[in-house]
Amino acid sequence: MKLETALANASTKNTDLRDPEKNYHMMALADLKTLTPNFSWEAYFKAAGHPELKQINVGQPDFFKGLDAQLTATPLEDWKTYLRWHLVNAAASELPEKFVAEEFDFRGKTLTGAKEIQPRWKRCVQATDRTLGEALGQLYVQKYFPPEAKARALEMVRNLIAALNDDLQTLSWMGPQTRAQAAAKLKAFAVKIGYTDKWRDYSALRIERAGYLENTLRGAEFEFARRLDKIGKPVDRTEWGMTPPTVNAYNSSSMNEIVFPAGIMQPPFYDPQADDAVNYGGMGAVIGHEITHGFDDQGSKFDAHGNLSDWWTAEDRKNFDERASCVEKQFDGYEVEPGLYQNGKLVLGESIADLGGLAIAYAAYEKSLEGKPRPKEIDGFTAEQRFFLGWAQVWGANQRPEAARLQTKTNPHPLARFRGNGPLSNLTIFAQAFGCKKGDAMVREPACKIW
Ligand SMILES: [Zn+2]
Repeated sequence: MKLETALANASTKNTDLRDPEKNYHMMALADLKTLTPNFSWEAYFKAAGHPELKQINVGQPDFFKGLDAQLTATPLEDWKTYLRWHLVNAAASELPEKFVAEEFDFRGKTLTGAKEIQPRWKRCVQATDRTLGEALGQLYVQKYFPPEAKARALEMVRNLIAALNDDLQTLSWMGPQTRAQAAAKLKAFAVKIGYTDKWRDYSALRIERAGYLENTLRGAEFEFARRLDKIGKPVDRTEWGMTPPTVNAYNSSSMNEIVFPAGIMQPPFYDPQADDAVNYGGMGAVIGHEITHGFDDQGSKFDAHGNLSDWWTAEDRKNFDERASCVEKQFDGYEVEPGLYQNGKLVLGESIADLGGLAIAYAAYEKSLEGKPRPKEIDGFTAEQRFFLGWAQVWGANQRPEAARLQTKTNPHPLARFRGNGPLSNLTIFAQAFGCKKGDAMVREPACKIW
């Protein structure tokens, strides 16, 4: 515990982990030696199968300084205990029942307040997804992701990109030079939907009926080798960072791409039975969220090619930062439980993405109605109201206090209830849809607006 705490104290703060500049430190072998005189990188690279490595990006130099200090300050016997414990801890869910129960007691009960462990079949499916995700994914998409779903998602993405492009042309706080760069970045976005065009080849991975732990360890070795095999080769832009059944999506700044696995194209995000308004408020806003990440407080530091480079004029950056700080303050004010607040700086990227995502999804929906008769009310709700109900359905969630506490302290995503209400309280279109007036709980003063 003493060693773990020392290493934790030397680690980068979670708010700084979001900042790409603070995590980019290319170092030559000689600099590495100065950073950690007690650690042999040559021996490490050799053991990892890459003795030729002469430079490396050290994400957290201070951590390695702290590690190096512990290499001499902590007795060898303690290191052995520490490393042995880490091995057992990492393998706990593949070890016999007593280990599984012990792990659940801490990670499940203590940290998240869970009352019982997930059923065995769910844990098995998750383990398969982790280790053989693109093999499992092939079966998943055959069964649950017809070509129509892909076509519908692609159409929505195109409409959303067009809506943000329109917004960029008329944005009052941005000058022509930055505007042109932003539009170029948006135009260069790569879009991935559903699943990869190039399935991963698992033939080098041996899976046997006996030995769950051994299969998992071989799976980890396979993945480690796969990653190291990229060294010295061109970037593979076809690669996916999520498996097809995953109910999630992402934006990769360094690839300048937005990615939507097949798993997210289902209710409450997308319902083929629901009308467009609901789906634009759900899946549409999620697509808008991922697009906006390219223009959030950190994503905006990457250019159209995915390189970390500053394409902003000083004045426009100042204008952007002022607007971003409005969102930061808004989330700083959300109280999770007495005395515990959201950390606005930590959740800023996600909160900007939610706010911008909703605004451009709404604009895209309005645009899709052009030239068509006005949609009828359904169950007494107007199309505009249904759009926001679609968003609310996405964030309807149950969470135990322990899990909410853990998320608040460690996760850059705000709690579901603040993601549901927070951005809507900034939007005039929401107030109009539901007839909210100045002074109402869902009308913020001043309202934050960036994109
Ligand atoms: Zn996000």
